[in-house]
Amino acid sequence: MNIKNYINGEFLSPINENYIDNYNPSIGEVYGTIPNSTKEDVALAYKAASDAFPEWSNKTLEDRSRILIRISELLEANLERFANAEAKDNGKPVSLASVVDIPRSASNFRFFANAITQFSSESHESIGLGAVNFTLRQPIGVVGCISPWNLPLYLFTWKIAPAIAAGNCVVAKPSEVTPMTAYLLGEICNEAGLPKGVLNIVHGLGQTTGQAIIEHPEVKAISFTGGTATGAHIARTAAPMFKKLSLELGGKNPNVIFADSDYDKMLTTTVRSSFANQGQICLCGSRIFVEESIYEQFKKDFVKKVSELKIGNPFDNDTNVGALVSKQHLEKVKSYIDIAENEGGRILYGGNRVVVEGSENGYYLQPTIIEVGDNKCVLNQEEIFGPVVTLMSFKTDKEALLLANDVKYGLSATLWTNNLNRTMQFSKQLNTGIVWVNTWMLRDLRTPFGGQKASGVGREGGFEALRFFTEPKNICIKYE
Ligand code: NDP
Repeated sequence: MNIKNYINGEFLSPINENYIDNYNPSIGEVYGTIPNSTKEDVALAYKAASDAFPEWSNKTLEDRSRILIRISELLEANLERFANAEAKDNGKPVSLASVVDIPRSASNFRFFANAITQFSSESHESIGLGAVNFTLRQPIGVVGCISPWNLPLYLFTWKIAPAIAAGNCVVAKPSEVTPMTAYLLGEICNEAGLPKGVLNIVHGLGQTTGQAIIEHPEVKAISFTGGTATGAHIARTAAPMFKKLSLELGGKNPNVIFADSDYDKMLTTTVRSSFANQGQICLCGSRIFVEESIYEQFKKDFVKKVSELKIGNPFDNDTNVGALVSKQHLEKVKSYIDIAENEGGRILYGGNRVVVEGSENGYYLQPTIIEVGDNKCVLNQEEIFGPVVTLMSFKTDKEALLLANDVKYGLSATLWTNNLNRTMQFSKQLNTGIVWVNTWMLRDLRTPFGGQKASGVGREGGFEALRFFTEPKNICIKYE
């Protein structure tokens, strides 16, 4: 399967005819190629977007909305094809892609198709001065959207949908590791009648293709999701050019469990919040803190439940844990497990690579639970982004809060308790962009999404995204 760039509604080879291998991580083999695009390809995509902008930004909201809804319907109609493609490209269980990744990608388009028809701006009457101000919210122009490999289409469309709903035209780059569903999206956009050039998808390496997008002088805003180091690099490059920036970065999220929580519900959800998508979700609760009185019981029950997870080929129906996304990532995750003992950790479960029958070269790793004694250890301070969680006990609310906040990241936190006062105290004092209480990853697309500290700058979701993708302009009218 040879992927092409999607520029001006057409599928084009890269100008230099240079390609990169695309791997199927579940069998560890190359199954296609993707363009190794250069800045010339990005320039072509920019030109197409810029040419499309005047007409697209002047389309009625209803017309834009109708096209986005159509994209969402076509994604739903092609769910199986997209879910299979995502599982093959990423290694995630197809059962997960079918109920999470692809339905959510369709929801992203439907949500912003509706949201744009409800979006409004403010007016301020300057009483006594004989003036009225109103805010125009205009599309920015050509914007860049760059996304990672863990939720490939889900995160790609989470940016593209609000950008185009707001009237912008887009140059987008998916991760080079998981380009397939972004490629297929181009076909859907054509079928849905999205005008040529409104969305342009350029494939290639972050350091070249991605870099060409962020340093393009006329790309006015960058919406980026990925690692913290890449985010910092993007900020260094784009901020002096005064581009608008939305940065959704890494996480090292605490999962704080109190003895008064609903134990069974907590246990089941904690297995999911630890290992869903092989732990490769920025929102996974990778640092688990458990109140001392239930710590030993939790440890026993958690290890038992995790040991029942089936690791296997993403296309087997009973697979709970699929393959990691790449050999390089597998080695990175494994390197953290290998230093566990030096870091004062004790592996309670897992830690080893798994050979799956029929997929012997795939990148499989056991879900791994490590007990640690100190939150300052590397395992608790660095983002591993794989099927690895740590366990620690705590005695008091104060201690739990300190542990939860004692990390450079601040994306999300999960709290398990039935105590209302504690819920409010923690919710107010946790330094994260999202707090889930007695649940995990329950998403309402209207809510602000994003992190504090090294987890990013800005918020996606709901009207926050539409505000990001529009430029506010105040009009002040004086009257007699
Ligand atoms: P990376 O930061 O390596 O890459 C993210 C994207 O940026 C990829 O498309 C990558 O391309 C591209 N990129 C890399 N270098 C540059 C550059 N110089 N200029 C422009 N683009 C560039 O992250 P990963 O793909 O490894 O994703 C994992 C990370 O994403 C984790 O840290 C995770 O926490 C975070 N994440 C955050 C989320 C959030 O909402 N806060 C959600 C999901 C993930 P290529 O892949 O081709 O190198």
